[in-house]
Amino acid sequence: MYRFYNYAELFKPYEIIDYLRKSQSDDPLLTVEEILAKHEAILDEWDIKHLGALVPEENRFREIVSGETIKERPEINKVLRLIESPKYKAVKIVEPQRLTRGDLEDIGRIMKLLKHTNTYIITADRFSERLYDLHEEDDWNAFEAELKKGNDYLNYYKKIQKRGRDISLSQGNYIASVPPYGYEKIKVKEGKKEYPTLKENPDEANVVRMIFDMYGNQGMGRMSICYRLDELGIKPPKGEQWSATTLKEMLKNIHYIGKVKGNWRPTITIVEDGKFKKTRPQGNAENRLVYEGKHNGIISPELFERVQNRIGNNPRTKPTTKLRNPFATLLYCRNCGKVMVLKYFRDKQGNEKCAPRFSCIDQARCGAGSCTYAEISDLVCQTLEHSIEDFEICIKNDESDSSKLHAQLIKTLEKKLKELEAKELTQWEQQAHPDPSQRMPAEIFKQLNKKLLKEKEDVKQALRKAYESQPAPIDYKEKIKTFKDAIITLKDPAAEAVLKNELLKACIERIDYYREKPQRVQSSNKKSNWNNPAIELDVKLKV
Ligand SMILES: [Zn+2]
Repeated sequence: MYRFYNYAELFKPYEIIDYLRKSQSDDPLLTVEEILAKHEAILDEWDIKHLGALVPEENRFREIVSGETIKERPEINKVLRLIESPKYKAVKIVEPQRLTRGDLEDIGRIMKLLKHTNTYIITADRFSERLYDLHEEDDWNAFEAELKKGNDYLNYYKKIQKRGRDISLSQGNYIASVPPYGYEKIKVKEGKKEYPTLKENPDEANVVRMIFDMYGNQGMGRMSICYRLDELGIKPPKGEQWSATTLKEMLKNIHYIGKVKGNWRPTITIVEDGKFKKTRPQGNAENRLVYEGKHNGIISPELFERVQNRIGNNPRTKPTTKLRNPFATLLYCRNCGKVMVLKYFRDKQGNEKCAPRFSCIDQARCGAGSCTYAEISDLVCQTLEHSIEDFEICIKNDESDSSKLHAQLIKTLEKKLKELEAKELTQWEQQAHPDPSQRMPAEIFKQLNKKLLKEKEDVKQALRKAYESQPAPIDYKEKIKTFKDAIITLKDPAAEAVLKNELLKACIERIDYYREKPQRVQSSNKKSNWNNPAIELDVKLKV
């Protein structure tokens, strides 16, 4: 039922809160500012017409971010807090759906809040101008219906968009906009239809093969792989230098075994430090969609599987709690098979009371003796040093996969160099043309030539590095380097535990520890003392 009100009698301008926001139903070509300006004009017009004065500026709240749910909108939250005060009697909006078109829970919550704070709602748009008193059943129903209308539209819009993508994905098409490193996105015609898929980019694909080989076959750590790629002058997908995170993403990317995926990591919005951030957390395992893709894989499923097992073996580190144990997932108690944990002993000021110690996680039941961190660290370093000596003795000839891939890389670079040299020659020939009108302007030639020489120098540099770092057969040299890296880092008190852990895992499969429980013994001067049982370590190396 429509009622007429004398607004000026009901409200003073300062008793009204204005709320403005852009929504998905607005013209997509307009900016947020343009839409809000349009709405301000509507609200102003209403003020003058019904109150004879404008609502004060401090009562006007403009939503700049365009979140669908209330949680994602900072300004509406301010409004909802303000209406708890009896000072404010109404919230004015252009039309109901400006308040919310989020989910039903949001609608219910916002309507209850308005009702219980006795807040009227004014809609100012000329076509839907109205006052809602939510204590009136008619008004409640009408307002609710308006909000749900917005919600239905939004859901419908999202659904049809998603449905199309799901179908395309299930047919094995590649529907994301950016292709994974190693591929190009192409469109293939099939009868009258066209579908998007991936095509191997030969140079990049070889780098992918190299990375999987180094990680899955040679047991190199992610950091060592990064250094190696940088050394070879290979550019990462983003930025200037390779990072362990980029490598991890690549090593887990199932497109490399010819599959496509959806719902993998949907983008969601979170609030951090009072700001809204879009993030893509690891998706829920059940919601993940994986299909056979129409494209060819780059990596064999066996190698991929091996790599997944190795990645899965990495200890979980929550972003807030840093890994503190360099031997995490490596050190086990031989007595009971459970893990050894590292304990720090600090006082309230954070000072070390005594040296950190390793003990079996189930020490109370198992009874194995504990030892200091330094004891384990020294013994492991010794073991690694011995292995290096062994490697040095047994460096012998053998063709490894990585040397083949390396040779391929050298070939690519050599070919590039030849092309550049040919291009240089052409430039000079053109410049020496008998007819001056056929020549380039001198300044342009100078620039082009300079650019080309620079490019040539870069390729030469990369080639030199590639020749230098050509892997030794069966990579004992590489092993030595990896082991040395681990030793140096392990001995460095400033190095982070995460890094130590990663490097150790490149050399070591598992360590089993045993030490008898120390006993009290009587010494000659009748003072009791502790005996010192030997530590036994079985170190299983990755060779
Ligand atoms: Zn134990």
